[in-house]
Amino acid sequence: MRILVIGGGIGGLATALALHAAGIEVEVFEAAAEVRPLGVGINLQPHAVRELTELGLGQALAANGVATQEFRYANRFGQTIWAEPRGLLAGYRWPQYSIHRGRLQMLLWAAAEARLGPARLHRGRRLAGFSQDETGVTAQFEDGGTARGSALIGADGIHSAVRALLVPGEGPPRWNGALLWRAVSTAQPFLTGASMVQAGHRDTKFVCYPIGEAPGGRVLVNWIAEQRFPTDTPWAREDWNRPARLEDVLPIFADWRFAWLDVPGLIRAAEAVYEFPMVDRDPLPRWRQGRVTLLGDAAHPMYPIGSNGASQAVLDARFLALQLARHGAVEAGLEAYETVRRPATAAVVEANRGDGPDRVMDLVHARAPDGFERLEDVIPRAELEATVNGYKRIAGFDPATLNARESWSVTTAPIPEPRPGA
Ligand SMILES: Cc1cc2nc3c(=O)[nH]c(=O)nc-3n(C[C@H](O)[C@H](O)[C@H](O)COP(=O)(O)OP(=O)(O)OC[C@H]3O[C@@H](n4cnc5c(N)ncnc54)[C@H](O)[C@@H]3O)c2cc1C
Repeated sequence: MRILVIGGGIGGLATALALHAAGIEVEVFEAAAEVRPLGVGINLQPHAVRELTELGLGQALAANGVATQEFRYANRFGQTIWAEPRGLLAGYRWPQYSIHRGRLQMLLWAAAEARLGPARLHRGRRLAGFSQDETGVTAQFEDGGTARGSALIGADGIHSAVRALLVPGEGPPRWNGALLWRAVSTAQPFLTGASMVQAGHRDTKFVCYPIGEAPGGRVLVNWIAEQRFPTDTPWAREDWNRPARLEDVLPIFADWRFAWLDVPGLIRAAEAVYEFPMVDRDPLPRWRQGRVTLLGDAAHPMYPIGSNGASQAVLDARFLALQLARHGAVEAGLEAYETVRRPATAAVVEANRGDGPDRVMDLVHARAPDGFERLEDVIPRAELEATVNGYKRIAGFDPATLNARESWSVTTAPIPEPRPGA
């Protein structure tokens, strides 16, 4: 079996590593001529960290990310709505990491290159089409070249060419009216020093968390500021690296100064701000067409709520490799993958449309828009718990279930960790 993976992002590279670990031959075709550490921060939840740890990347993640210790919801006045421990402190067997997306991609690329060999990772190969018959799939690239494999996995992101070929006429992703500004700033540590914070509500929200150290005891803080506009506001096609202007975002948060966080100060300290409209697509009724399927954002683009985009792509990757190895036949393996992962990810897409766990902020804002004296007069603890923990169950990172679930490794032999610095 020889698998062609289209896209060398988080999902495609995790797929390559998982297939390789499962003893399946794989080749990756990435459109970018050069793989550079683009993007800002993302979170890897413990379910994804488990998969990457079982792929022998636990130490590499620890060396490149910040193990999140606390998660906190607050209103726009900085009053705490919910605070809970995260990762190992929450009883998971695996940490949660806040990490620069580009660093994670580079780390996965380096691991894939070391394990598969550089000849299996192709840069500057943009998929243009494919054809398939009973014996395999032929991928056609824009450069005129082709590649032949037993199956083709579209891990080519939110503007997936594979998805456009499988679902012609689907059109662009759908905007929900929210604009996100993303940036990294150098700042003093706040709260535990490894806290992830979300303040505000559905219409105006500020999210931040450290993703690394900076000189002088300071930290690199990833932040996302969010504002909702009427959906007929014109917006350019989403591009993960479209620069934005500080003066567009700063006035919205000018008076968000909390005792424990200076939001306008953080915004002002950004080196560069990028903007992105919050988009997703409707879940598909099918992913697989013969020997071709989808994975990651290509399969289930979701609002970046609940920090699950990259994590779900990693879960897809590992489950796909397990099913292909178990079934030993392409179509049966792809079908088994889809049977579990398509409904699981559609549920996350739907939950994120309802604001996911962030709904607790919306509930408090609706009931106490000017702040509160006693939180328990606004919302019972049980309602907060049900919302936050319910989302963990939907997205697959409820601690008890995750800790107890059997491994998705094909072999139980541990994969050696690369030497530090290797
Ligand atoms: C440059 C970039 C920056 C990002 N920054 C952030 C961020 O700051 N925060 C955040 O939450 N999420 C970010 N994301 C999205 C995030 O990485 C994904 O939501 C998540 O990791 C799922 O990964 P994926 O592999 O499915 O998709 P992606 O990470 O988007 O990877 C898709 C890959 O496919 C490649 N590709 C696209 N079309 C073709 C084609 N026709 N042929 C071959 N290859 C193709 C792309 O170049 C890309 O490398 C970013 C994505 C990209 C590409």
